Amino acid sequence: MNRNLFFWLLSGFLLGGCGDPDSSSKRVQWPTMGTIASVRASSSLSDATSAKRSCEAIFQNQEAIFSAWEESSELSRLNLTAGTGAATECSRDLSHVLVQALALCQESEGAFNPLIGSALRIWGFNGASPVHQQPGGEEIAEALRLADWRQLRTTRASPHSISLQIPVRGMKLDLGAIAKGYAVDLAYAALKSAGCSNLLINLGGNLRAIGEGNQGEGGWRTGIRDPFGKRQVFARFLLRDGEAVATSGNYERFVTIQGRRYAHIIDGRTGIPVRGMAGTTVVAPTAELADGLSTTLFILGAEKGTAFLMRHHPECRAIWIPDTGKETDYAIAGNWQPNHLEILEKP
Ligand code: AMP
Ligand code: MG
Repeated sequence: MNRNLFFWLLSGFLLGGCGDPDSSSKRVQWPTMGTIASVRASSSLSDATSAKRSCEAIFQNQEAIFSAWEESSELSRLNLTAGTGAATECSRDLSHVLVQALALCQESEGAFNPLIGSALRIWGFNGASPVHQQPGGEEIAEALRLADWRQLRTTRASPHSISLQIPVRGMKLDLGAIAKGYAVDLAYAALKSAGCSNLLINLGGNLRAIGEGNQGEGGWRTGIRDPFGKRQVFARFLLRDGEAVATSGNYERFVTIQGRRYAHIIDGRTGIPVRGMAGTTVVAPTAELADGLSTTLFILGAEKGTAFLMRHHPECRAIWIPDTGKETDYAIAGNWQPNHLEILEKP
């Protein structure tokens, strides 16, 4: 094993969502982008409320770009051009996220795959009709053909935009694994440039910290939710000023086919939903990277994911909770400082 690896396989509880477990009267929350957003302020409820107003408008704009459900979204309209031969200039936001998604795709050799849209549909996700039996080999092979990211053609259209040609009819981009993180980064930048301090932004488990929760702490104490509810919080850690954290889990979005549960995260190389992982949490310098990486590392698992992290993103840190049913299996990797991560004991 790589010597630089800060990796332990320990005994512990199954972990799940990354949350904001400390309920506070200085927090406002609201539904958006198919999930719940919240802002916490260390100062006052009115600071949280005014920060919410900035975030609300940003998240709504991003939903109009990235929604895989809304037929009018920029992404849905782009998907309609698949196989027509047309090259379409994407907006600045879509261009940026697409470039990041394709970089993660390349680094992970297609495990993270922004062309996963067709595979999601054969398993009954993204508004497809309910599926009553597991898709057959031919159906999966066809979905994989439509997930061949190497065929996407991008060219630079302007300093901030790219032009994209989706060559095969039926290919469907899905950026649900990274777009929320990007939206959080936009909110973070807007609040910072408005001079706001000491806020914690959370969009469906994608968090980014501005300043600190309590004076002198250097960040916000936050937690990782226990997905099985055996306890409220699996672990606590300090999210330092400017840092972001994201969690991917198998317990919030899933389908049940013939009594078996399948999570909404599909291995982009096989077209099959990932099994065996309950949750993966990643701390990164930006929310977009944390979001993209939490999905990637969920797919790769702890061992391959640790090697991946050390090779491509050594500045980040991660926790995996495998769905082994054995409450003591979890793994961590990256630059955790011992006093910054506290795994809580079973009550
Ligand atoms: P997250 O909760 O950030 O892990 O994102 C999960 C979402 O990512 C799913 O609901 C899908 O929209 C999308 N997704 C699923 N599998 C993949 C994959 N292999 N690569 C990229 N995105 C994926
Ligand atoms: Mg993600």
